[in-house]
Amino acid sequence: MSKLTPRATDTRALDPSPAVTAASRYACCKEGLPVPTALITGITGQDGSYLAEHLLANGYNVYGLIRGQNNPKRQVVEATLPDVEIEMGDLLDETSLISVVQKVQPDEVYNLAAISFVPLSWNQPELTGEITGLGVLRLLEAIRIVTAASPSRSASGKGIKFYQASSSEMFGKVTETPQNEETRFRPRSPYGVAKVYGHYITVNYRESYGIFACSGILFNHESPRRGPEFVTRKITQGAVRIKLGKQQELLLGNLDSERDWGFAGDYTRAMYMMLQHPEADDYVIGSGECHKISEFAELAFRHLGLDWRDYVRSDPKFIRPAEVEHLCADATKAHQKLGWQPTVDFKGLVEMMVESDLKAESQLYP
Ligand code: GDP
Repeated sequence: MSKLTPRATDTRALDPSPAVTAASRYACCKEGLPVPTALITGITGQDGSYLAEHLLANGYNVYGLIRGQNNPKRQVVEATLPDVEIEMGDLLDETSLISVVQKVQPDEVYNLAAISFVPLSWNQPELTGEITGLGVLRLLEAIRIVTAASPSRSASGKGIKFYQASSSEMFGKVTETPQNEETRFRPRSPYGVAKVYGHYITVNYRESYGIFACSGILFNHESPRRGPEFVTRKITQGAVRIKLGKQQELLLGNLDSERDWGFAGDYTRAMYMMLQHPEADDYVIGSGECHKISEFAELAFRHLGLDWRDYVRSDPKFIRPAEVEHLCADATKAHQKLGWQPTVDFKGLVEMMVESDLKAESQLYP
């Protein structure tokens, strides 16, 4: 990464998220009802920040789990989400998870933590399996053990609800399109394989122990807070830097793979809705529209008055050992059962990200 490349979090003030203040938090709470408590793993990521804001705006006490001593991301969370309480813990360490769940006594646990960058999962497949796969088991075990020790301690008295961040990468080499909750999994990376384990162990703990556990099979979701290693942000940041004369070309990998992209703020709202439904279940969340990587690039460059074909090249070093060629969601169940609908379409998403990067690059490095 170049020294001038801003971090995803630098654009925090520039995207359309709700302003959350302590006053707005408590104003939403109905008088006399206990304040619900949520624990989020992966609080330092894109989804953790949007979900925390949504929960705070709905009157929750929010705790975020952070791993590692002197984790530099802790300061970012403290600065951008001052109402979130930080707890130390690690998905590799069962004891730490039990003690955090015991201490926080959450009503809802959202497991968003993972090794989430697909190419990294080929370099560190074992760590990916440990965190993205077995980490889910450890968290479910913590919930099972703490609930057995104090079954009525949560604010609702109904035990601890659990959300697992499952992924469309589980569909991999798709066997049908669009993909729904019944579509067979055929993962294509160590990341996808680990997510399949996380999904099935969530279903298993629901069926074995009656834990209110939901698995959200989310298709790609992006925002100005997306890390610059993911293709959407890499494109919007690159296009802006080319427009401003700070970069000459943009090297990408496979331009023909197709993804179903949505706005992360819409997708974290779906997570919350799953845990508010009376019945625990699994849901596909996506837009139902699929676009090639080249289409994303075309739109981003066009928004800046540029022709993407003059600047984008495919470089073999970004081609993956096995590719997921096509993903497209059938989110009918979420529309019908949860009443969930996205608010940002493909064009709106691309333009939001380009505009945010334009402001960030112009302000930070004029
Ligand atoms: P993923 O769907 O979770 O793997 O999200 P990514 O944003 O990392 O990748 C989406 C698609 O973009 C994949 O098919 C990649 O092969 C493709 N792609 C093409 N060029 C690039 C690139 O330079 N970086 C990344 N991350 N992906 C790329």
